[in-house]
Amino acid sequence: MKIHIKTYGCQMNERDSEALAGMLTEAGHTMVDAEEAADVLLFNTCSVREQAERKAKGKIGYMKKLKARHPDLIIGALGCMAQRLGNELLNELPHLDFVLGTGQLHTLAPLVESIRADRRQVVAITESAEVLTGMRTHHRHAEGGEPDFKAQIAITRGCNRFCSYCIVPYVRGREVSRSREDVVAEARELAADGAKELLLLGQNVAAYGWGGNVNPPPSGVSPFAELLEELDRIPELLRIRFTSPYPTYFNDRLIAAITGSRTVCHNIHLPLQSGSDRVLAAMNRQYTAAGYRAVVAALRAAMPDVTFSTDVIVGFPGETDEDFRLTRELMNEVDYDNSFIFKYSPRPGAKSASDADSVPQEVKEERNALLLEDLKTRVAAALRGQVGTVQEVLVEGTSPRNPERWSGRTGTNRLVHFLPVADQRPGTLRQVKITRAGGVSLFGELL
Ligand code: SF4
Repeated sequence: MKIHIKTYGCQMNERDSEALAGMLTEAGHTMVDAEEAADVLLFNTCSVREQAERKAKGKIGYMKKLKARHPDLIIGALGCMAQRLGNELLNELPHLDFVLGTGQLHTLAPLVESIRADRRQVVAITESAEVLTGMRTHHRHAEGGEPDFKAQIAITRGCNRFCSYCIVPYVRGREVSRSREDVVAEARELAADGAKELLLLGQNVAAYGWGGNVNPPPSGVSPFAELLEELDRIPELLRIRFTSPYPTYFNDRLIAAITGSRTVCHNIHLPLQSGSDRVLAAMNRQYTAAGYRAVVAALRAAMPDVTFSTDVIVGFPGETDEDFRLTRELMNEVDYDNSFIFKYSPRPGAKSASDADSVPQEVKEERNALLLEDLKTRVAAALRGQVGTVQEVLVEGTSPRNPERWSGRTGTNRLVHFLPVADQRPGTLRQVKITRAGGVSLFGELL
């Protein structure tokens, strides 16, 4: 059958969709880009914000017309919103053939076959440990194209932290880690298949192997560091990135593993959420602004070239002007290269949904705009500071906006454009002299 997958939400969902595409092609199906060409339409949904759910529901609703024209069409909702709503989703969108939750994704291929055979509606949302080992397939090579040099591996699933605004622990279940042998074997297979850059994924990736314990490991202990060290020894790999680590898991052992590694990039995504201790406590984040600053200082002392990105929520219930000022101050102090700023919206089922959404929308918009403006100013200054330096970039391919130019990324995750030389190949490391800074990227000459 011809199958199309549309993905909403985070990188974990992107990776799940890629694994599902791998699973379906192994089962003999073909992935297609166009919805109209598909016999099966899959929507891998997100629940993190109301907007994401609304978008997916709207899109699935719109597919009713397509199904009226093609009654054999199979439509499935998968992932977080499917898990959260289950039968309710089938009632709301009765042209759906199935609803497959986060714990049952590994059963997709046989489920599609059984629906084709007997056309009954199915809701499968029970949690299952098998999803942990059943989602290691990949779908990385475009038809006839170059081997893709980037690959993603999910090393944990679920989350135990229960931040008060977050729905993830309810829709993705408790935190579980894959075995180190399984992850390393998957990484070796990917490297043998042409992968040069690995992105390790998990809701709290740095808690890998710590048994779901919400207290971070003590000094000198970090199963995640041990995993990084083992992956670092795979000779074909040039770079390893990971996202997202909870800030309090950066102990001496993990920092030493990063600085001592050949491949781990000096770019850390370090979710902040708020710079106010009062708001952090209300969010059930297990650190203070001072504790967060200490993690940043330890990482900077060990890696002077490190760059940071972050997630921040503006307009959390009760956030005052002073709370916001503290967030803004901390963000400018850390000097993030990138930040994902979210305007708070309550998620039914998450703890903070019972608090009044007290910050008016226009105040959220204003705070969001101020942080974006700060980010723009900081990034432009940071990029100007790179002019004249020589940077190692991992070549990605032609620039999307100018096919005459190529681009690549530094280990610190800055985008660099340059004119290619003959026989240029994606997935190779090159030295580039930076000659000019743009608003969001750098320009240079290959050395
Ligand atoms: S750490 Fe907090 S924000 Fe991140 S997934 Fe877990 S509960 Fe959600």
